[in-house]
Amino acid sequence: MIPLQLTLAPEWAPDRDAPWRTLEARPATTFVAVPPGAVLNPPASTGMGFWSINPYVGCEFGCTYCYARDTHRYAVERAAASGRLADTTYEEFGGLEGWEAFERRILVKEGAELVLDGTLARAARRGRLAGRPIVIGTATDPYQPAERRFGLTRRILETLARHRGSALSIAVITKSPLVTRDLALLQQLSERHDVSVNVSLATLDTLLLRKLEPRSPAPRARLRALAQLSAAGIETGLFIAPIIPKLTDGRRDLFRLVEAARGAGAKYVMGSTLRLGPAARRRFLPHLEHVFPELADRYRRHYARGAGAAAAYQDAVADRLAEAQIAAGFAPRARRRHAKDTAAAASTAATAAQAAMGAAVDADSQGTLL
Ligand code: SF4
Repeated sequence: MIPLQLTLAPEWAPDRDAPWRTLEARPATTFVAVPPGAVLNPPASTGMGFWSINPYVGCEFGCTYCYARDTHRYAVERAAASGRLADTTYEEFGGLEGWEAFERRILVKEGAELVLDGTLARAARRGRLAGRPIVIGTATDPYQPAERRFGLTRRILETLARHRGSALSIAVITKSPLVTRDLALLQQLSERHDVSVNVSLATLDTLLLRKLEPRSPAPRARLRALAQLSAAGIETGLFIAPIIPKLTDGRRDLFRLVEAARGAGAKYVMGSTLRLGPAARRRFLPHLEHVFPELADRYRRHYARGAGAAAAYQDAVADRLAEAQIAAGFAPRARRRHAKDTAAAASTAATAAQAAMGAAVDADSQGTLL
C-alpha cells in the first residue's frame, strides 16, 4: 500500500481573493501559487462528456501547436480584473505576449488536492460521477517539469485513491516519463478504478520533434515510460497528437510509430489532427514560417476557415491510422468520423482522453493537404 500523506482539512477552502504569490523564480521560469477555483471541471463547463483536472496552468514543454495557451491568458486576465494580480505583475505577464507567459510563468494551483477532496465527495453523493470519466491533463501536462518540484499531480492521485465511493474512470494524458514516478500509486488506483495512462507522441523523428516541441521529453524516453507502465499492468495507450499535415502524417512515419506503441505494450493507439484555435494559430503559424517556410502559405489557406483540418483530410488520416493499427496487430476500434462523436460518447477513460485531445472539428471545412 502507498502511504497516503495528506492530512484532511475539510474546512479548508481557498481564499479566492488572495493575491498571487511567487513560489520560485528561476532564470527562465517563474512559478506562481494561485488559489484554485474549481479543480474538478464538470462536463457542462467544457461541453465534453467527462470531468477534467489540470493541476497547473501553463506548461514549460512549450509545444508550438499547443491549443491551451488561452487558458493561461484567461486566468491572468481574471486575476487582474479581480485585483489579485499587481499591475506590475500583470504587465510582466502581458509583456511576454501571452504565448511566452504560458511557457514561462507557470501557475501552480496550491491546495488543489484539498479542494478536489471536497468536490469529489459532493459530486459522488449526488451521483454526478457515474459513467463520467475524469481526465487529468486536458489543458496542461500534469507531469511537466513543475510537477517534479511541486508534486500536485501526485497529491491529486492520492486524493482519488482515497475515494471510497463507486469506481471511477480515470485517464491521465502526458508526454512525460515522470509519470512512472507514480507507477505504484497508479497500480493502487487501478485495483479499484478504471485507469488508463495515455502517452502523447507525434513522431519518432527527434530532430523534427525538437522543431515543434522545444522542451518536451525525447520520443524514446516516452516509449520507455509506456513500456514500463504496460509491464506493470497499467492500461496504456499512445496518442499520436497532433498529427501535423505534411510533417508527421507520412505513411511510413505513422506505421513506425504505431508499431513502436505495440512493441511498448500499448493497448490502443489514437490520433487527432492538428487544430489551430486562435491561441495556437498566433504561436504556430509564425513559427512554421520560420522553420518550414515552404508550408506556411498552404497552412494559412487550409486553416483559413476554421480551427480544424478539413473533414476530407481527417478521414484520410483516420484511414491511414486504421491501416497502421491493423498492420501492427492492434484490434480494430470502432471508427468515429469526428472527435465530436467521441466526446459525446465518452464513457470510458480512454474515449474521454481521446475526445480531450481531439476537441471538436469543423465538419464543413473542405480541401486536403495530403
Ligand atoms: S505538453 Fe501539452 S500542455 Fe504542454 S505545451 Fe505541449 S501540448 Fe501544451
